[in-house]
Amino acid sequence: MTRRPKLAVWKFSSCDGCQLQLLDLEDDLLALADAVQVAVFLEATRATAPGPYDLSLVEGSITTAADAARIRTIRRQSRVLVAIGACATAGGIQALKNLADAAEWVRAVYPRPEHIATLATSTAIADHVPVDLELRGCPVDRHQLLEVVSALLAGRRPALPRTAVCTE
Ligand code: SF4
Repeated sequence: MTRRPKLAVWKFSSCDGCQLQLLDLEDDLLALADAVQVAVFLEATRATAPGPYDLSLVEGSITTAADAARIRTIRRQSRVLVAIGACATAGGIQALKNLADAAEWVRAVYPRPEHIATLATSTAIADHVPVDLELRGCPVDRHQLLEVVSALLAGRRPALPRTAVCTE
């Protein structure tokens, strides 16, 4: 029996909207689930399988030291890593904190700021690890996302508008 490629979907600081685009593929998602082993996708199932992974999709930005360590571990375990959505490719709406003093905001918002562990910035995945492809959008387009997954698993370049992706 041939081994099915392992797909992992990871969440960092985000609203889950890009992962929902994957779930909203419905019949196409079922076909995809037949073609791959869904090793990690906590939005859909609690069952997980250990790496290495053939393809990792990463939603969300890096906002804590723990995030920064986790994405480095995921990168080491992933043959191909794709950042999906504005949070993962540009820091997202939460990157507004990059424009101000994050520590000051934490003191103003939280009654016990000493319990908040956050970086001063929200940054893209590519600021921390090499990324093979970035798919833009907020949320990403579900059909473009399916094309990215199908193409990369088939070893071909995704057929997408130049404005949708960045591979530099
Ligand atoms: Fe949500 Fe937009 Fe971030 Fe996707 S890019 S996780 S839709 S905020």
